[in-house]
Amino acid sequence: MAGTAALRPLSYIDMKYEGIVIRPPSEAGSLILQVTLGCSHNRCTFCPTYKGKRFRIRSLEEIREDLACASRYRGVKRVFLADGDALIVPRRMLVPIIEQINATFPDIERIGVYGNAKSILKKSPEELDELKRLGLGIVYLGLESGDPQVLAEIQKGADVNAMVEAAHRIQEAGILLSVTVLVGIAGAQGSIRHAEQTGKVLSQMNPDYIGALTVMVVPGTVLAQRHESGDYILPDTRGLLAELGVILAHSDVTDCLFTSNHASNYLPLRIRLPQEKEQALSIIGQVLSANRTDLLRPEHLRGL
Ligand code: SF4
Repeated sequence: MAGTAALRPLSYIDMKYEGIVIRPPSEAGSLILQVTLGCSHNRCTFCPTYKGKRFRIRSLEEIREDLACASRYRGVKRVFLADGDALIVPRRMLVPIIEQINATFPDIERIGVYGNAKSILKKSPEELDELKRLGLGIVYLGLESGDPQVLAEIQKGADVNAMVEAAHRIQEAGILLSVTVLVGIAGAQGSIRHAEQTGKVLSQMNPDYIGALTVMVVPGTVLAQRHESGDYILPDTRGLLAELGVILAHSDVTDCLFTSNHASNYLPLRIRLPQEKEQALSIIGQVLSANRTDLLRPEHLRGL
């Protein structure tokens, strides 16, 4: 799932974390509970995160042991369910997991999870209502692109219609929706079309949060192979910034926090849409027209 930050959960050393554990930047203060290992999809061409990690749903017993370890930490108010796409866990397991979280942390305020379109649409509206009642407060959905051709190329496993339907199903259950988009994923040639289509789909989704990340070509991925063969050309910094501007310009949402503060991005933004859209576009324009590279994150500080 794009839109994540690497985490070494040193403060919870007794919990049995397996492999790389990632979470969205906004879950930095949350207790991370691994309910799955790896990603049930694991085919996105740009994503290195869970390659080599065989997907499985952890047993209730393993999860209960982790929660017993974590129970001595006071003040846990948020829990994030990892790994990638943990919403794939069927209701019959997810409900007891959430009930156990609630029993362990009486002050819990919100439970968050990654969910792709497939795992969301596998849950009925009634199941999502139930999960919301139990405390599921936010779902992070990786759209990456609103361009149907790009979604197929990157093997996202869902088309635009499924993405929009999944977004609406989450919102209809009253669960907050955070959508991630990937700047640069269409390459230099498809950049503007990808940006326009992505803004259009974001407008249809009308999420509570949008997180923009910038693609990084990671060795060992299919994207890296395409890059090496010349089939995929990464836009340059100016191209990436222009693309970010077009995504923003085409995003017509009613009340949303838009961030591009993930370490992969050159220009960190944190703005409310629609109120601060013009201001953000003006900053992007200044960077491009006046070559204000001082406003950009240096290359050596970028990362996934
Ligand atoms: S859904 Fe795709 S991007 Fe997300 S973790 Fe799985 S392979 Fe990676």
